[in-house]
Amino acid sequence: MRESTLLLQIAQASAAGFLGRPDVLVGPGDDCAVIAAPGGSTLLLTTDQFIEGVHYARGRSTESIAASAIARSISDIAAMGGAPLYALATAALTKDTHQQHATDLFEAMAACAQGWNCPLIGGDIAITDGQTILTVTAIGAPHATRGPVLRNGAKPGDRVYVTGPLGAALASNWTRTPEPRLDTARRLCEALGDNLHAMIDISDGLGRDAGRIAERSGIAIALEADSIPLAKGIASWREAIAAGEDYELCFTSSTAPPDELGCIAVGIVVEGEGCRAITPDGESFDAHESGWDHRA
Ligand SMILES: [Mg+2]
Repeated sequence: MRESTLLLQIAQASAAGFLGRPDVLVGPGDDCAVIAAPGGSTLLLTTDQFIEGVHYARGRSTESIAASAIARSISDIAAMGGAPLYALATAALTKDTHQQHATDLFEAMAACAQGWNCPLIGGDIAITDGQTILTVTAIGAPHATRGPVLRNGAKPGDRVYVTGPLGAALASNWTRTPEPRLDTARRLCEALGDNLHAMIDISDGLGRDAGRIAERSGIAIALEADSIPLAKGIASWREAIAAGEDYELCFTSSTAPPDELGCIAVGIVVEGEGCRAITPDGESFDAHESGWDHRA
């Protein structure tokens, strides 16, 4: 069973549960759910798991695990162009976990969340026979004027951009502190407004994540292989588009972003379906299938 197939089935099954609920503006299938909250505000909701042996190797430092667990959910808020408000975290910890380690882990998660102006306001701990599992839920607010930036708005003729070099997490062997692009996302919303058509954070590799924009928008994306910016230590575009945990953003826009944001054009939106990488000599590769898809 692939994660992507399972997520699609859950999205279809849960859609039945909120049909007739006009306050659910966006359900499963985007970076965040979007709800019209009582009182008239709009909220972004997301949750994500970080599992030992699946997303990270045993032996990684407590600070690094905490930073990644928080960053994964904060990055989903950035992917909608939003600002984080609050976080909740749960941990399933193994029986041999020392109390001090559990305390350190939650203190580190609280410090990271606070660093993103997103206080950790609750959570839970359970003891498990299996491996460590951290779950972080983040609640955010969409950009006040642009509103939430979804995956489904890409249009033929848009340019496709990324916010920075790809593969940095892989190149650092996952020791680098992840940095969700909240500030860049906010500035993109301000500068591009409604011309910012679709956005996603690159958690599973550009090939797969740009493919998700293509799928949700009903268009095709052609990546220009030699335009893909490589992080230091990454040797090829193939490695860069398959690298996960990057937390850069991929977006499509009908107008160019301001130069000072340092975004890099990596492709175009065209009619059709799927995501392909085109080399300078015209060879075309299916990019959608390159990237992380953890098998359940
Ligand atoms: Mg995401």
